[in-house]
Amino acid sequence: MKFSDLGLSQPILAALEARDYSDPTPIQQKAIPPVLAGKDLVGIAQTGTGKTAAFVLPTIQRLVDSAPQRLVPGRARMLVLAPTRELAAQIATAARGYAQGQHVRVGVIFGGVPVPRSIREVSRGLDILVATPGRLLDLVDQRVLDLSALEILVLDEADQMLDLGFIHDLKRIVNIIPEKRQTLFFSATMPKQIRQLADRYCRNAVEISVTPVSSTAERVSQAVTFVNQKEKQALLTLFFQHEPIDLSLVFSRTKHGCDRIVRRLKAAGIEAVAIHGNKSQAQRERALEAFRRGDIRILVATDIAARGIDIPGVSHVVNFDLPNVPEQYVHRIGRTARAGREGIAYSFCAEDERPYLKDIEKLIKQRIGAVPLPDNFMGTVQALQAMPEVREDMRDEEQRERRGPRRGPPRHGKKKAAHAIKPAGHRPGGAKPKKPGNKGPRRGPRRARG
Ligand code: AMP
Repeated sequence: MKFSDLGLSQPILAALEARDYSDPTPIQQKAIPPVLAGKDLVGIAQTGTGKTAAFVLPTIQRLVDSAPQRLVPGRARMLVLAPTRELAAQIATAARGYAQGQHVRVGVIFGGVPVPRSIREVSRGLDILVATPGRLLDLVDQRVLDLSALEILVLDEADQMLDLGFIHDLKRIVNIIPEKRQTLFFSATMPKQIRQLADRYCRNAVEISVTPVSSTAERVSQAVTFVNQKEKQALLTLFFQHEPIDLSLVFSRTKHGCDRIVRRLKAAGIEAVAIHGNKSQAQRERALEAFRRGDIRILVATDIAARGIDIPGVSHVVNFDLPNVPEQYVHRIGRTARAGREGIAYSFCAEDERPYLKDIEKLIKQRIGAVPLPDNFMGTVQALQAMPEVREDMRDEEQRERRGPRRGPPRHGKKKAAHAIKPAGHRPGGAKPKKPGNKGPRRGPRRARG
């Protein structure tokens, strides 16, 4: 099936062609025709399935087809609600791209940026407003945003919205928008509570489902290593010293855990950056951008910060901590093997995490192959534990120092072969070595300060 079979207009087909998207993904095939026909939709789908285009393409077309002469200041015609800032920003970027060449004004608002900026964003009126619930209600309460003429509501990642406690905000929002509207409702999972929410918000919805959460992305090779909690950092460092990666996402359960991992990787000369709720919006955006561009190839994140992030080149997902909710594992590994590529998911499992691993294996209905610890692992642990961490406040000084002549920094990598993990044993799932063009993570020139 081709995009042109779905009833999409010429400018949209041109935007897709410009992106080299030849065929619609399953969710796009199923969602686009009913949405174009004005129907409500309940979609059970994760990110990575092409969900954004599935709801953005047909709604752009509907907005264009029924375009009023002029937008009304402070009003939005379509609202997309997303649980996180990153996801909201990503949807807005995608919508702007798909709407190129058509007169569709897209705006995005979320917390963490100055309110006046959000006010400016909505002041001239918008075709599509992408928002997180809190900032949206802020603007409604300040009477600078009027949703009374809304035509289309999209709720993205509804399960995540509920997890993050947005239920009251959602109820309020639904009370202030017109009853007569088109509603598109997406969730990766559909437990009873989400089902009730979908039933309440949608009318005679067409229901579609793609890759249920329990079926792990097939192209992801998965592996686990059993390791003491205290020694995970050494295993991670060794992994990055020897595994050729393009981009890697590392998951930690806690914000402090993320920061600690980054500090210790840096101490070993490996560049990484953390992204989590304690970072400012500007820091998060900078980190994501650096990761997206490949300037920094290791992003250490909490589940919430990483949810919905769509970066196609992620070759490796490392679960430094196993998630205690098994579905979260599926969300995490779904960050790799996107857009038809292969991916590797590597998990570290401490003794007290074994029950989590069991739950995960039950959910994905498969055993995750175990990779043993590398030879002479304890020697490496001791060497790495003796290294000082790089603190954030040392960075300027360190950068200054880096500009000057190098004074014999301890280099890692090849020379430390005595501590190396055997590459074969360290290719979780037996993944093929990367093409020679693939660079490994940056190592070496960075010097850890004592
Ligand atoms: P999403 O599920 O919306 O997060 O999209 C996942 C990724 O797939 C994004 O990078 C999209 O740009 C990409 N994508 C969406 N639709 C297609 C398509 N039909 N062909 C190829 N890539 C696509």
